[in-house]
Amino acid sequence: MTTEPVTAPINAWAVAQQQFDLAAERLHLDEGIRRVLREPRREFTCHFPVHMDDGSVRVFTGYRVQHNLGRGPAKGGIRYHQDVSIDEVKALAMWMTWKCAVVGIPYGGGKGGVIVDPKQLSMRELEALSRRFFTEIEVLVGPERDIPAPDVNTTPQIMAWFMDTYSMHAGYTVPGVVTGKPISLGGSEGRNEATARGTVYCVVEAARHLGIELKKAKVSVQGFGNAGSIAAQLMVAEGSSVVAVSDSTGGIHNPNGLDIAKVINWKKEHGTVQGFPGAKDISNPEVLEVECDILIPAALENQITAKNAGNIKARLIAEAANGPTTPEADEILWKNSKFMIPDILCNAGGVTVSYFEWVQDLNRDHWSEQVVNEKLKEIMVKAFTETLAIARREQIYMRTAAYMLAVQRVADAMTMRGLYP
Ligand code: NAD
Repeated sequence: MTTEPVTAPINAWAVAQQQFDLAAERLHLDEGIRRVLREPRREFTCHFPVHMDDGSVRVFTGYRVQHNLGRGPAKGGIRYHQDVSIDEVKALAMWMTWKCAVVGIPYGGGKGGVIVDPKQLSMRELEALSRRFFTEIEVLVGPERDIPAPDVNTTPQIMAWFMDTYSMHAGYTVPGVVTGKPISLGGSEGRNEATARGTVYCVVEAARHLGIELKKAKVSVQGFGNAGSIAAQLMVAEGSSVVAVSDSTGGIHNPNGLDIAKVINWKKEHGTVQGFPGAKDISNPEVLEVECDILIPAALENQITAKNAGNIKARLIAEAANGPTTPEADEILWKNSKFMIPDILCNAGGVTVSYFEWVQDLNRDHWSEQVVNEKLKEIMVKAFTETLAIARREQIYMRTAAYMLAVQRVADAMTMRGLYP
């Protein structure tokens, strides 16, 4: 079994700022607005105690960052991972600002994280950590101020604990304080699949643009959690053949296609995709480089770098993950005529259905899955079409086009509001 390092030592915040600078330059953005948008509005760090099952007290470190509130309350997930850092959270918060702007939903960008490997905690410890962390960030969050959601290693159950904690302090039930909740607590139909579904809506549009026939296409997916495993299933539903997938323990490959439903069961049983009968075990870097038409990175940041970008065979890259590609790798992919659906567009389905969930909560309403998916499709296809139009008009890479669209929308909102006081 090959175990890959979870993140390369590339600073996600430096990457996020570099991507922003590129767009700001192209847009000839006002210097003052540029200075404001280059930094997060608020950064919050806490060190909080949790009673462990063995009777000891452990202190954990957590963060909540609000990058920009120009277009609405902060929105963004909370990540539990041993490699969480303030710079990673800042980058993820900035990307949320652009993501909400690309799809035109009325939010600013935020993100949170706790330095913890949740797999090492019991259920009781996980609940205690979640409730205490949410209590710490209550100085910032609220249904009108900052609305968290799931991210890596955080689940609908954890969202339920967050919502309950906030509601107990408020003295009444406040479903609109987090999204990604279980349906029984005001969660939205279709939220669980939304990130992957949004990705696949974009892939369908991009494939049409590029003349890729999805029924003949081979797909490789890095990361097999919420975004990756559901994207793999949905690509199979489109008639494509998923030839490689991976999780944090490594990957598997079968050039004739994997039975994704069976791989999901295998992972449930064995805790890893590796060892799946009929497939060859490969490493995580190899998953990115296998022979395929479409590559879906759906794990963590900094996976496609200057080192391996030149080896990517896929013609279309759909970033279900946040920040999987470094700016140096982008240059190589652009030179190699790869078509990129950038993260801020490609995985915006998650936050879009989170927005639907929040709207339903505030209105005490509940929409059918069909309504949710139709509205999601309309928003994703529109955002994709608008981004592609800029890319074609300016003859630029899709990431730069998505940034130009997003940064301009945020800058317009800030200009109209003016600088207080
Ligand atoms: P998850 O916790 O459900 O799954 C993460 C998966 O990545 C797991 O299968 C894990 O084993 C795998 N993984 C971890 N390190 C890896 C590595 N080095 N190589 C390969 N696989 C690795 O998380 P998720 O919600 O699916 O999030 C995945 C990505 O999608 C993240 O970048 C996240 O920010 C992004 N995203 C998620 C959502 C959402 O709604 N869940 C929305 C937008 C973006």
